[in-house]
Amino acid sequence: MPAQKIDGQALSKTMRAEIAEAVARHVAAGGRRPGLAAVLVGDHPASEVYVRNKRKACEDAGMASCLHRLPGTASQQELLDRVGQLNRDPAVTGILVQLPLPKQTDESAIIRAVTPLKDADCFHPENVGLLTAGHPRFLPCTPFGVQQMLARTGIATAGKRVVIVGRSNIVGKPLAIMLMQKPSKAFPEAGDATVTVVHRGTHDLPGIARQADILIAAVGVPRFVKGDMVKPGAAVIDVGINSVDGKLVGDVDEASVLPVAGWLSPVPKGVGPMTITMLLHNTLRAAMM
Ligand code: NAP
Repeated sequence: MPAQKIDGQALSKTMRAEIAEAVARHVAAGGRRPGLAAVLVGDHPASEVYVRNKRKACEDAGMASCLHRLPGTASQQELLDRVGQLNRDPAVTGILVQLPLPKQTDESAIIRAVTPLKDADCFHPENVGLLTAGHPRFLPCTPFGVQQMLARTGIATAGKRVVIVGRSNIVGKPLAIMLMQKPSKAFPEAGDATVTVVHRGTHDLPGIARQADILIAAVGVPRFVKGDMVKPGAAVIDVGINSVDGKLVGDVDEASVLPVAGWLSPVPKGVGPMTITMLLHNTLRAAMM
């Protein structure tokens, strides 16, 4: 039997309706309306699309959103000044600096300039530290989207063998931390799984991947995960977003993986919409803090 597809679009729709209700309750109780400020530097076609989708999702959920556009020639200081202004603006509860930034800017210094209390992406080292210590303030959007996708599909992580392909700061590494942690009152989303992270330096990556009950691909290489890397019945989560001949494809080769896996999150309509949904969650959470 082919794998069941996990419908990230449908899950997102349900979650966004829940978030919209929570926003309405928060505002009705006298709380400040959550507001996301997106900072977009230069002309990056994919970033334009991401920011537009994020802003629309905010507005659909009853949140305010504003766009701060800077030219691709903006200096480090201009960007720092803009982030400083947003840090001080009480109408802004969440700040998103769309990556990648132009070469003349220091991305990690900009990430550190966002006040941790408005860090809707959860990229600031203080928030990464809190996550690692098991007391998260926010959870990073894409890993959080993957966790919610598994939890809401009924795919348990506790005691399972998870293999994550990719160790980036925004996906692989924080996802590994989330899924390995022991659940607690401060961190109910923690996965309690046995997690292995594989990358370019890994020997026998396919052999390790085949041990996974849950295999997560965050590689950035189109169709990297093939059917012969998947244990029969495993849940396969595809984080990848790649453009091949003008078509959106993931990091999983759907044709060879579908007949082997038990579950598969497709691209598009998988993790992508979940990431935006968790950004809404974080923007609301920041407003409530
Ligand atoms: P990244 O920063 O480029 O990291 C890719 C990771 O994959 C690295 O750790 C790299 O290993 C590993 N890798 C690359 N080629 C490999 C190979 N041939 N063998 C083994 N490991 C390999 O990418 P990212 O930001 O994590 O993003 C990963 C994918 O997810 C991309 O397609 C991106 O577009 C997508 N993405 C999607 C969302 C979403 O909302 N759905 C959000 C973020 C990212 P080394 O460390 O050894 O170099």
